[in-house]
Amino acid sequence: MSSEEKVGCASCNKPKATTACGLCQAALCRKCVQFLDPETLRYFDVKPADLLHGNYCGPCFVTKVSPVLADYEEVMDRARGVVVFMNNKGEETRLMNRSAKPIRADDCFDEEETLLRLAYLAAREKFNVLVDVHVQSKIVRRQGGYQTSEFWGTAVPSKVDPQWLKRTEGR
Ligand SMILES: [Zn+2]
Ligand SMILES: [Zn+2]
Repeated sequence: MSSEEKVGCASCNKPKATTACGLCQAALCRKCVQFLDPETLRYFDVKPADLLHGNYCGPCFVTKVSPVLADYEEVMDRARGVVVFMNNKGEETRLMNRSAKPIRADDCFDEEETLLRLAYLAAREKFNVLVDVHVQSKIVRRQGGYQTSEFWGTAVPSKVDPQWLKRTEGR
């Protein structure tokens, strides 16, 4: 292909394609490309390969990206409802089942993000509470020399009767 030749957009056919779909490589103009903000992927512990491209054509976005994002939003909704028992405060966690594998969230900005990431991992496996929750932080030197705190946390996901949780929260 000569460099003067203008590539046609696969979506609108105008000879203005400047980029391509990361999945099917269809040429796309600025108007037709769909973007996925990398920030959207922050809470995925393993980033789905199909979501790493940034630029998509309409059909790929609808068939490959939207369903994964919809699943993610559904889990995230449940994650926000996961009840966190910090450091086992409260008698009520004593009898909770602790047979699930402990989970861990690394490299978080603050305590809030750490807890939400742990809750996301729990919600994905259909758990609704976190017990034995420990959040810690350390000072790290970032690129450019400035210092920030880095948080990480561990917890054991567990499952309790949602009705019982409602009563407990009301106390
Ligand atoms: Zn176009
Ligand atoms: Zn595509």
